[in-house]
Amino acid sequence: MSIVNARDIMMEAAKGNYAVGAFNITDLVQMEAVVEAAVEKRAPVIIQTSVKPSKFLGRQVLVAVYRTLAEAAPIPVCLHLDHCTEIDYCKKCADAGYTNIMIDASKQVYEENIRQTKEVVDYCHSVGNISVEGELGTVGGVEDQIKVAEDEAALANPDQAIEFVERTGVDIFAPAIGTAHGVYKTKNPKIDFERLGQINQMLNGGGIKTPLVVHGGTGLPEDYIKRLLEMGGAKFNVSTELKHTLIDTTYAYISERRDEYDPGKIDAAVKDAIRGVVGHWIDMLQSAGKA
Ligand SMILES: [Zn+2]
Repeated sequence: MSIVNARDIMMEAAKGNYAVGAFNITDLVQMEAVVEAAVEKRAPVIIQTSVKPSKFLGRQVLVAVYRTLAEAAPIPVCLHLDHCTEIDYCKKCADAGYTNIMIDASKQVYEENIRQTKEVVDYCHSVGNISVEGELGTVGGVEDQIKVAEDEAALANPDQAIEFVERTGVDIFAPAIGTAHGVYKTKNPKIDFERLGQINQMLNGGGIKTPLVVHGGTGLPEDYIKRLLEMGGAKFNVSTELKHTLIDTTYAYISERRDEYDPGKIDAAVKDAIRGVVGHWIDMLQSAGKA
């Protein structure tokens, strides 16, 4: 059985000191590419959709294709809803068959974040074997990266993080540590590695309970990734790099063959390119051969 939630594969990852790659897709070609790359590498994998593509493609369509691909794959595959701020849509995706849901109430005040996150946790656990990711602090866009990284208050407070996890019952947890969405503008983004390590020690020091998620994977230097792995990162989200790969590959293909009208060949070029990117990430996260 290859249909799994995120918690189960991340528990294994956290114990084995590697991380599961979580790749955002916006269409079905990319979804196939992610699964193919993970099969090639024998790695557990998480397919993610943010809310916009989920609504555009349709959650039932995405779940149907996910189940078809996952059931045929000899590796565990999870389908995750990324950064959803609407409780109602979280529940709809849980009903449809997503196996991990991220309720992102991190922009709310602390107590309201707890309330909303717990509501989604309670719902998903009642529906079935669906795990839930919560976030504390600010994972901003790159425009704010340095500002966020230097603002103590925007990062996850370790004591609050422990309380947040206990009171909400989240299965996996994303503490803000200074990583950002988009492409880092500096070669040396400011990341609070020690904060991740401290939260991991407090949560999982006595045995893995709540594996940790690192957002904003795109553009992180490889030595940073290694350090984040050592500090307890068990899921890395990669989104922007796949989007750039899709658009750049499509643009290059069409530019070179302006008179060819064969969409299948463009899809094949995109799939190859995405497969390469995902495979490289799986290697960096040391999850190859773990499935
Ligand atoms: Zn994110």
